[in-house]
Amino acid sequence: MISVDGALKAVLGAVKGTLGTEDVHILDLPGRVLAEDIYSRCDIPSFDYSAMDGYAVRSSDIKGASGDNGIRLEVAGEFRAGGDISAKVSEGRAVRIMTGAPIPQGADAVVMVENTKAAGGIVEVFEEVERGENIRLAGEDIRNGDLVLGNGIILNSAHIGILASMGLSSARVSKMPRVAILATGDEVIAIEDEINPGKVRNSNAYSLYVQVKESGGIPVNKGVARDSRESLRDALKSCLDCDIIVASGGVSMGEYDYVKDVMKELGMDEKFWKVAMRPGKPNLFGTIAGKPFFGLPGNPVSTMIGFEVFVRPAMMKMTGCRVGERKEVEALLEEDIKTKKGLRFFIRARTRWNNGGYVTKTTGPQGSGMLSSMVKANSLIIVHEDIDTVKKGSKVKVRFLG
Ligand code: AMP
Ligand code: MG
Repeated sequence: MISVDGALKAVLGAVKGTLGTEDVHILDLPGRVLAEDIYSRCDIPSFDYSAMDGYAVRSSDIKGASGDNGIRLEVAGEFRAGGDISAKVSEGRAVRIMTGAPIPQGADAVVMVENTKAAGGIVEVFEEVERGENIRLAGEDIRNGDLVLGNGIILNSAHIGILASMGLSSARVSKMPRVAILATGDEVIAIEDEINPGKVRNSNAYSLYVQVKESGGIPVNKGVARDSRESLRDALKSCLDCDIIVASGGVSMGEYDYVKDVMKELGMDEKFWKVAMRPGKPNLFGTIAGKPFFGLPGNPVSTMIGFEVFVRPAMMKMTGCRVGERKEVEALLEEDIKTKKGLRFFIRARTRWNNGGYVTKTTGPQGSGMLSSMVKANSLIIVHEDIDTVKKGSKVKVRFLG
């Protein structure tokens, strides 16, 4: 039996790298992994402009202005955002200016309109301003040549906004892996079907579908294979058009657990089959035609945690994502936990910030088929294989989910 660390190393070793890159339109970029460094090719803003509605002035003209010492300037024109910008400011003159309009030639500051009074082509100014006051300078946000976005990030709305402001309508991103999802089991029925004793709705295909999407892949539902060599052979062969294959069920010691045999027959190079962890000990991994194959155990929570621990990191490597690692923290345990030496435990938990530190407790029964405690969990407590008890009040490692 391989350790979790050894298994993860084997998985990452088998994933050779990204699947290449493609140019994608700006509106299709959210959620994609950037595959280039983006340097600005302009200053943003591209010109000095007013941060206020008011009057553009020469600060030296209004030295000493105050509430009871108004200084009068002749109004030489008006600048509004996007409007005519021919007027100039010379000694004794001001230009009425709106937020966003360029600073007129000759002016070095803006007085807020609230501190002025205008009538008949004259404005009276009641405050002095420093040179540069209320002016936003060209390039103060981003300078021409700055590294703005680094490769490996997952693009979000702010990134899209900054690309747009630089005039970029597309970017180069990593290709998304297509991930085949195959359920197995004679008892597994469609979620629309009437349930009756002995049958189980195919929830794994759905939770895996979402986990794949959330990890930057394209899920491809390959249906349900029955517990026969023929059915599995056909179904597994049909998965080979994808970049990654994820199956659930049929990898334990049961009489009808044929996934491993059939995959080996199809040419899989097996890397491991059992991992020292709970939930999810039976866990088959290998490569077939250079593609990673994950045979996760069928219990719904084992499937999800197997995905988290092994498939997700593989997908992060395959998409070149540098920011996808789950956040791990130390938290104060609020109850006693009993585990078993030799197995690494991933325990569904609710972790929260409390009085300057994280605290955590389990979300109830931890049976590997019990999705209810997964639903309540925002994290997993990770208990190392070297220990078998963790006492209330001690520190534990916690990994947040999502
Ligand atoms: P297996 O790993 O095939 O032995 O399955 C272990 C348990 O998971 C059994 O109780 C199965 O009924 C259940 N199971 C298997 N596949 C699925 C699935 N696709 N959706 C929900 N439960 C499943
Ligand atoms: Mg089964």
